[in-house]
Amino acid sequence: MNSSQLIGNEALKTHLENAAKRDAFGHAYILHGPRGSGKRTLAGFLSAAILCSSQSGRPCFRCSHCRKVQKGIHPDVVTVDAGGKEIGVGQIRELRKDAYIRPNEAAKKIYILPAGETMNFAAQNAMLKLLEEGPSHAVFLILTETPEALLPTVRSRCVELGLSPLTAEEMEPLLRERFPEKSSEELRSAARRSGGAAGRALELLEGNPGTGELPQAFAEVLSRKSEWDLLSFCVGREKTDRDTLGAFLEDCEAMLTESLRVKMAGGEDGEFGGAAALLARSLTKSEIAGTIDILRRLGGYCRNNNAGTGHVLGMLAAGCWEMIH
Ligand SMILES: [Zn+2]
Repeated sequence: MNSSQLIGNEALKTHLENAAKRDAFGHAYILHGPRGSGKRTLAGFLSAAILCSSQSGRPCFRCSHCRKVQKGIHPDVVTVDAGGKEIGVGQIRELRKDAYIRPNEAAKKIYILPAGETMNFAAQNAMLKLLEEGPSHAVFLILTETPEALLPTVRSRCVELGLSPLTAEEMEPLLRERFPEKSSEELRSAARRSGGAAGRALELLEGNPGTGELPQAFAEVLSRKSEWDLLSFCVGREKTDRDTLGAFLEDCEAMLTESLRVKMAGGEDGEFGGAAALLARSLTKSEIAGTIDILRRLGGYCRNNNAGTGHVLGMLAAGCWEMIH
């Protein structure tokens, strides 16, 4: 973790640098952005900046606080995770008790909630109390893809820092550093398919796209415009887990976006083995745009822990058929 990993997002960096200079960090932050956009990197950077003992240029990445945060072993940085399950009021009460105990080594104690939206209503209300009247040495970093899932009263007590999608040009140096052996074309392709999320691009380069050739298969089904084919494709995947389904919807969204570009501007379909070009030939501009909307909306449902994959797939079949027939 270093400041160069916070690529792009210039306004955000300026904000953090100013806060560090004036030692004027807030006591609660909501860090939001899409999957893989760097929320955890930002949380690490912010934690180091808040705990750093240097007088200038915080985080210095040299003092013992910075080094421990970087290694993930600082005793005053606590991660509150329910392993993908809902965070209940009990967990926030435990957190509250812990928050009243003085920090071990640093001047502050930091609580990171990597999936803030998984706090249920009661948990969020307990959190609200803590934000209102918690001890002054406690700092809360709530990470989420969907800040809308947090109560307005919680949001109003936090400083919101949003991570915006990166351009392929902004992302390339970071990808190059991690994958020096890959060609520029491979790096740019991953950057484009990632939708501006560096973490997602790294996953793609690690050969962990999660969805294999499925987006291409989906493109063929769409191009045939058969209700039965669409339904069998979706029904056959009801056992898919939510993360894989989310990755599939993301890849399909990138593929449809590429097909819209091919349709409007012509040129090659470089990344989807001809599937984007096939879609550009088979569907109208408004059918493609409408399908992109559906994929984006369902991707959102998928990230929301309450949506079952069978339900999402049913909506995918029905929504796409409505759009293209
Ligand atoms: Zn430091």
